[in-house]
Amino acid sequence: MEQIIIKTKERSEKIEFPDELGFGNIFTDHIFEMNYTKDKGWHEPTIKPLEDISMHPGTMFIHYGQAIFEGLKAYKTKDAEIVLFRPDEHFKRLNRSARRICIPEVDVDFMINALKELVNIERDWIPTGEGESLYVRPFVYGSDPFLGVNPASSYKLIILLSPVGAYYPEGFKPIKILVQDDYVRAVRKGLGECKTPANYAASLLAGEKAMEQGYTQVLWLDGVELKNIEEVGTMNIFINMKNEIVTPKLNGSILPGVTRKTVIQLLKEWDMNIVERDISIDEVVEKYDSGDLLGVFGSGTAAVISSVGWLTFKNKKMVINDGKAGELALKLFKEITSIQYGLKEDTHGWIYKVEKNEVEVS
Ligand SMILES: *Cc1c(COP(=O)(O)O)cnc(C)c1O
Repeated sequence: MEQIIIKTKERSEKIEFPDELGFGNIFTDHIFEMNYTKDKGWHEPTIKPLEDISMHPGTMFIHYGQAIFEGLKAYKTKDAEIVLFRPDEHFKRLNRSARRICIPEVDVDFMINALKELVNIERDWIPTGEGESLYVRPFVYGSDPFLGVNPASSYKLIILLSPVGAYYPEGFKPIKILVQDDYVRAVRKGLGECKTPANYAASLLAGEKAMEQGYTQVLWLDGVELKNIEEVGTMNIFINMKNEIVTPKLNGSILPGVTRKTVIQLLKEWDMNIVERDISIDEVVEKYDSGDLLGVFGSGTAAVISSVGWLTFKNKKMVINDGKAGELALKLFKEITSIQYGLKEDTHGWIYKVEKNEVEVS
């Protein structure tokens, strides 16, 4: 692959973070961008100042949704080192999403290096408060103007960076979840296992309705029988039962989370009985009624681990662990974030360091 073209712009003033960083509100000064055409393949990888994209109104992805994305994070560790968490897994998943949506794949090693270069240039944009990080959003979309329904012939890949706040500014607070059976997010053999905007479009109305009723998120049931639990919109789900910890097995409609994979590996190393299998919502209710439901938690890059304190299915309102954060959820949250912030040694090869490089501007 070609050398990355670097066109940086000096900042005239110092970076000032708002008091409340929140999520996805502010962006850094530069992006990474490259384009694909049939004859040139991916070409002209460039790091350049952030600016608006101008596009033809017929640009294909606007009409037919041919787009994919990823979400990962860069952290500043306690030793002021900059690290990425499992970028290899994220770019491999980008390629899996790409294949399903007829988007050309990228070179994983090249993308990791491109991201390191971009993050190195934007290193001063990584906030250092507790729980804060730099969210990394790579995305790809079909970019030619054409109104026919078929795969685009040209694409654009961009990496956008956004400094984000702690997910739990007031501590590790349990969330309220509504089990949804009026709508489905995805069906087997559809797009559920891809990180693509269509899945989010499918989830918006149910999310709004859940919010109106005071819930934070929706737990989706399988799209065929509305029987088995699948995942929570932006998180995978784990149920801590008396004799086993279970998570729905990947069946094509569930997003294979990198945090999910991390949690499974840690639980195995801790000699806990973690099982990937189908779990019906009826079983969850039964376990709750018999007192065998010890905890429920979600896993995803944004929050890392979210403890579920309340889970409602139809008229059944389940209060889990008295609405307090689960011990196992908290232990996992501490373990993973300790590795991410360099408080604990990474023995798994999950951490990728971003070396400090002086950039030669072209
Ligand atoms: C991104 C995402 C997740 C979480 O995946 P991570 O790799 O752990 O961040 C879970 N579900 C959906 C639908 C997602 O888009």
